[in-house]
Amino acid sequence: MVSTVAFIGLGHMGGPMAANLVKAGHRVLGHDLVPAALGSAVAAGVEPAATAVSAVNEADLVVSMLPAGRHVLGLYDDVLPAARPGTLFVDCSTIDVTDARTAHTRAEAAGMRALDAPVSGGVVGAEAATLTFMAGGGEDEFAEARPLLDAMGKKAVHCGGAGAGQAAKICNNMILGVSMIAVSEAFVLAESLGLSHQALYDVASTASGQCWALSVNCPVPGPVPTSPANRDYRPGFAASLMAKDLGLAANAVRAGGVHAELGLRAAELYAAHAERVGDTEDFSGIVRAVRDQSGEPA
Ligand code: NAD
Repeated sequence: MVSTVAFIGLGHMGGPMAANLVKAGHRVLGHDLVPAALGSAVAAGVEPAATAVSAVNEADLVVSMLPAGRHVLGLYDDVLPAARPGTLFVDCSTIDVTDARTAHTRAEAAGMRALDAPVSGGVVGAEAATLTFMAGGGEDEFAEARPLLDAMGKKAVHCGGAGAGQAAKICNNMILGVSMIAVSEAFVLAESLGLSHQALYDVASTASGQCWALSVNCPVPGPVPTSPANRDYRPGFAASLMAKDLGLAANAVRAGGVHAELGLRAAELYAAHAERVGDTEDFSGIVRAVRDQSGEPA
């Protein structure tokens, strides 16, 4: 069924996601605080809305793709009073699990329905409509959002109730952050032992060291020609975004009293690394930080 969708936040991710909804035949009313972001979306067929409220009060469904939890909660405070009763709010931003649960509570208190549906797949996935969505909320809400998620991605997993999508996202990215550091340390150790990158790759990629950080996003140039290391670490998945996601994971680790030493340490290492390279470098560039901070052999 064709819906009228309000799409709030038309940045690197939201812009192409909104464009894919237009391609799928939906009417999309878009809003962004930055005129250039709105302009690009309008060029792709999105109808401009002067305010978030004016977009939302005509919509069957609201999608948001914003930087952080405070933006999502601020948006909800502004627009919930203007929405039609029962409107489904689908937040695709990556935000704190507690903020996501607060967003659900506020939406429901205002007579609306909510789904958290963060994504993996990056800008390339947003453009190609190959994102993976991780959703938290009710079965009915997931089923109702499904055609839109399918128009923007290749896979959508219903992970559980409110906040479960965000929980899945930060658990996955904690695995990824820790494993990228482990793979990077192993390559730098191999260098100091006189073992070639290719030899370590040929063994570990078919042995128990195999993981995505090694076999897809390999942090040294050579063994996996498509990995960012082969293009001077141009992202890919920027170090700043990994630092953000590990910060969210660390918040949840502390709030839950979980003994996750490596997850917390990975958050510290990526925060320091992102301060140096920001969003200019893929997160696999942390191998250079490991190498730079390594000393002379004892
Ligand atoms: P972005 O900064 O490019 O886009 C965010 C947009 O939101 C900006 O255009 C900004 O002007 C707009 N905005 C902020 N507050 C607003 C408001 N109140 N009303 C309307 N517009 C508002 O960020 P992005 O890279 O598109 O990321 C968006 C979200 O997706 C983040 O939560 C990020 O963590 C997550 N994410 C990003 C990637 C990626 O590769 N970029 C991958 C997965 C998840």
